[in-house]
Amino acid sequence: MKKDKTEDMPQLKSVQGMCRFCGQYMALEVPESFNDVDIAEEATKKCKCTEAQEYTRSKERTANGEAAVKTLFANTEGLDVMKKKMLDTVKELCKYELDSITLKKGGYTCKMKPSKDGVKISLEQKTVNALES
Ligand SMILES: [Zn+2]
Repeated sequence: MKKDKTEDMPQLKSVQGMCRFCGQYMALEVPESFNDVDIAEEATKKCKCTEAQEYTRSKERTANGEAAVKTLFANTEGLDVMKKKMLDTVKELCKYELDSITLKKGGYTCKMKPSKDGVKISLEQKTVNALES
């Protein structure tokens, strides 16, 4: 017996999507709400050409990296600018357009560099114990 899936599934439409790198067309089933950009994105995600796979991989790593930055700065105060700059830079790092970034603010040092699945990020707080007599 075949169950009607349309009840609990989003409405799908059959489209032809084109990989934005190699131009290959493929048949796709996408949600009704997808526009041309979404369809091209989906086709690129499914394409096996090197550029498309690199692109998809870089996008996943960027998403992982952004999540890491948000987690690291979840409980910090007064570091909003630092957090924003780091988020802005994740993309460049994941595309290897930059090797690393270091930001400093009031005793805090944040370092970030690309890693296999996203970025490696650390936030250090410098505490200085000093005496002068
Ligand atoms: Zn392709």
